[in-house]
Amino acid sequence: MKRKTKQWLFGALMVLMVLALSACGDDGDPTSPAPADHVHAWGEWTVTTAATCLTAGVETRSCTIDASHTETRPGAGALGHDMDWIETTVSYISEGEETYTCIDCGHTDGTRPIPQIPVTDRAFLNTLLSGLEANTAETPYTILLNVDWLGGSSTFNGSVGNALSDNNTKFVNLDMSGSTFEYDDFSEGIYFDSSAFLWCDNLTGIIIPDNVTHIGGGAFNQCTGLTSITIPNSVTYIEDVAFFDCIGLTSITIPDSVTDIWDYAFYGCTNITSIEIPASVTYLGIGVFQTWTADQTIIVPFSGEDAADLAWGGSDWRLGCNATIQYTP
Ligand SMILES: [Zn+2]
Ligand SMILES: [Zn+2]
Repeated sequence: MKRKTKQWLFGALMVLMVLALSACGDDGDPTSPAPADHVHAWGEWTVTTAATCLTAGVETRSCTIDASHTETRPGAGALGHDMDWIETTVSYISEGEETYTCIDCGHTDGTRPIPQIPVTDRAFLNTLLSGLEANTAETPYTILLNVDWLGGSSTFNGSVGNALSDNNTKFVNLDMSGSTFEYDDFSEGIYFDSSAFLWCDNLTGIIIPDNVTHIGGGAFNQCTGLTSITIPNSVTYIEDVAFFDCIGLTSITIPDSVTDIWDYAFYGCTNITSIEIPASVTYLGIGVFQTWTADQTIIVPFSGEDAADLAWGGSDWRLGCNATIQYTP
């Protein structure tokens, strides 16, 4: 073969190869160019990949003439997280926690504390304690007890008393500052019910709500484990045997809202080192400090015994009391 002919054949071969390569490029292209035999007849766009919190969606359409011909385009943009605070731990005896969480994908971004849940149902208090570890009087559980009434001695027969009586090994401080006592809103005042915590030995502390006007008779009768109590200055009456035999009390503050302290109110409270009777008190009943001993001090807002007896209707308030009385007008 002549040299010129070889060169021509080589050139023709190259042209054929280039043509062949460009023909192969048609297949596999996501956006199919128009083929030789038809013009694409595109169907509807459909979502083939849904958008998520973080990624955009994808839509695809197919040629109705040849379904292998497809086109894609971006669909809906990324949706973004739908964040909300979700409770992760809740508690009746301590702070709980909530987590900032995407309700769609579960992505989380931080936590924050939430307040302790108040117990609003007395029956539940009993159930609650049965689920707790035994503790000591020095490490009581603090429970927020938000109720609108206590129910007097029925409280003992019911759940609170059972939960806090000496057949139990759970010691509890009750923070009742959120209680309303609206149920007891009689015209005479708002009562912390009589015998409400009678014999509740495992009651170690209590905050009485600041709208209570009457601490009912025997409200804390023989609460021997009671070591701390907050009496709000809404209280005007401390009734009979209210704190009878509360031997765990070492101190108590009588607010100057109190006008009447009834019979045997502090009988047997032999570990209170000192108590101050405010000048607001106009009536003291019989034996309010009976069994008190010489190493206990009662601070009285009068110049002497005669003045006190005159103001408080006789000497019965001192009946059976050996405490040291300090007259401080
Ligand atoms: Zn097509
Ligand atoms: Zn998300």
